[in-house]
Amino acid sequence: MSGTLYLCATPIGNLGDLSARCLEIFSEVDLIACEDTRRTLQLLNHFGIHKPLTSYHEHNKKEKGAYITALLEEGKNIALVSDAGTPAISDPGEDLVKLCIEQNINVTSLPGPVAGINALILSGLPTSRFSFEGFLSVNNRHRKEHLNSVKNDTRTLIFYEAPHKLKNTLTDMKDVFGGDRRIALARELTKLHEEILRFTLSEAVAFYEENAPRGEYVLVIEGASETIETEEKWWETLSVTEHIDKYIADGIDKKDAIKQCATDRGMPKREVYNIYHQEEEYYEEEATHNRCAFRRCRCGSVQDYKGTRSLQPSKI
Ligand code: SAM
Repeated sequence: MSGTLYLCATPIGNLGDLSARCLEIFSEVDLIACEDTRRTLQLLNHFGIHKPLTSYHEHNKKEKGAYITALLEEGKNIALVSDAGTPAISDPGEDLVKLCIEQNINVTSLPGPVAGINALILSGLPTSRFSFEGFLSVNNRHRKEHLNSVKNDTRTLIFYEAPHKLKNTLTDMKDVFGGDRRIALARELTKLHEEILRFTLSEAVAFYEENAPRGEYVLVIEGASETIETEEKWWETLSVTEHIDKYIADGIDKKDAIKQCATDRGMPKREVYNIYHQEEEYYEEEATHNRCAFRRCRCGSVQDYKGTRSLQPSKI
């Protein structure tokens, strides 16, 4: 019979938050898998626990995933911990859980600290509906796409951020969500210098122009208001093709324009892609049929080969 993988939440700053159950499981398991063995060793030493450790992180998760599941299949019991907080939340634990489920290996969890949930309950923003967004990409285009995809979400949004990227992130958020959105920045949670700063996005950007970000941050952002969401559906009177062409005219490439249109409309990307390309084929056939070098213009109109005549697609 296979062993069990125990997902053990560890403190995010205050060692007193390690549960009695975690201590018990750490003493009983055959092995502890962790992101950084030095960090986990410090935690175990503090509690006088001596156990073999193995690293399991973003860069070795494939080989180590196979190694850990093989041991579990042999009947070994293994605890998985992340550097801080709950494993499988913004760390590769997610992949190990998936692997265990695929191989019918028992997985259980020992609940405890999660930075995002702690920040949410301290934010003063609505907690009844929220969306955990994790880290934004370091790639500029992906960051903007991510932010745009949740711009009209009315739920409270939770992001993780490293201090050296905080200023840029706040500026991007202000650009996409608008300066009036409320934000709570939760830093150094459970630690001596725990602090919750509550601002609008404009105020937060101004504050960090004057003050250097310090420590670890969770950003909790007010969701879009229902009225803003209604007002901002500028594309509602446009066809799918016109909607995409508007983005292309604004300088977004075709692939991203299709993706953004699908997000705005809550439609599957494939469906939007098909509609767009079917129309494109239609225009090409029409142009050939009319023996005229009509070509499709970026703004969605159709022009003759000199570009002098312009017909709106709906009139063709
Ligand atoms: N698995 C963890 C959890 O359960 O929250 C999160 C791991 S994630 C790799 C690390 C991020 O969590 C940090 O960059 C920061 O955004 C957030 N975080 C962790 N500890 C924190 C703390 N004490 N105060 C504020 N944010 C923290």
